[in-house]
Amino acid sequence: MEEYEIKKCFYCGEDANTKDHIIPVSYYYSGKRQNRHFTSDYGKENIVDCCRECNCIAGNKVFDNVYKKKEYIQERLTRKYKKVINSPFWSEEDINAMGKMLKREIKIQQMARSWALNRINYPVEMYPIVMLNYELKKFLEKEL
Ligand SMILES: [Zn+2]
Repeated sequence: MEEYEIKKCFYCGEDANTKDHIIPVSYYYSGKRQNRHFTSDYGKENIVDCCRECNCIAGNKVFDNVYKKKEYIQERLTRKYKKVINSPFWSEEDINAMGKMLKREIKIQQMARSWALNRINYPVEMYPIVMLNYELKKFLEKEL
């Protein structure tokens, strides 16, 4: 039986549904062959699992190494999710004192914040992160 493995984005830890060429494919055909980038193997080592969002952010930009690229993407994610990240912090006690509707909204807001923070702080080593569920997705669509 084949083992099923959920691929995680190398840059942010989200489920990866695309592949990223660390050095963009276009770069290899841009006539910069004498450049040291070209000596990097144009093969498996140049590919990491990536979510659509990070792949979009990276575009065709060229970085010195994959860590610089990761840094850039995390910086861009920080800017994009600024509002969510800076949402006020509520303690369990505060939340419990709220009405049902507000409680629900605040809980989702808190989840969204940890989801964004986990992505932005996603280290090179893999670790489990808060998954983006349907409710959270709806919330983010409304907020951004
Ligand atoms: Zn990602």
